Amino acid sequence: GSAIRPLVAGNWKMNGMRDSLAQIKHVSESSALAISNAEALICVPATLLHSAAVMTAGTPLRIGAQNCHHEEDGAYTGDISAGMIADSLGSHAIVGHSERRLVYRECDASVRSKAAAAHKASLTAIICIGETEEERIGDRTLEVLRCQLAGSVPDGATAANTVIAYEPIWAIGTGRTPSIADIAAAHAFIRAELSGRFNGEGDRMRLLYGGSVKPSNAAGILEIDHVNGALVGGASLMAADYLAICAAC
Ligand code: PEP
Repeated sequence: GSAIRPLVAGNWKMNGMRDSLAQIKHVSESSALAISNAEALICVPATLLHSAAVMTAGTPLRIGAQNCHHEEDGAYTGDISAGMIADSLGSHAIVGHSERRLVYRECDASVRSKAAAAHKASLTAIICIGETEEERIGDRTLEVLRCQLAGSVPDGATAANTVIAYEPIWAIGTGRTPSIADIAAAHAFIRAELSGRFNGEGDRMRLLYGGSVKPSNAAGILEIDHVNGALVGGASLMAADYLAICAAC
């Protein structure tokens, strides 16, 4: 429980064709969203970004991207800059998702520069951190989180331009989640680290939990201290599930 307005951020990953825009339209027009306490955001593939953003203009649903390049422009075939996301009317960019860290070997320094690029383009950066199963078993979770926060969050981070998503890697897409006590401990630790570095801004920065959030476990997770919303992968692909998670806020 806190005064920070929760954010429910969907992450469609590499899913969604143009006909999926009907889901976006349905979510954006839903009465469940209109009465939810949550701020709602869906991060779509870049191909759908502009269409989704135009379609949802004037509704409570924001549209974001799942990654950005750290440079403003240049010879980076296949990449998309934060400025392009803003120009497409996206409001947020996820950076440092574990799939990018693991599959594309993005390191903390790269994530930090991407977050700074997002800030420069007036986007809100959703910076993802989280331990592997091996690190969890080895009791290194908090040490890993401390390193990732120090390395991935740029100095210009504020409560308005930055969201931190705690996503234990072993909980993503697996149906497994940490215990309520373990989520509470991780979020309290992240809050203390951010408050120590960013003072009042760190006190107010949103901390999302991500990893197998679904309608049946959302309420229990969202009521944990210092959990200010959720980052939702699989369940965000189904409008009814996404809306049920928003309604649980
Ligand atoms: C994610 O990809 O950020 C995520 C949390 O996925 P899922 O909800 O499917 O575990």
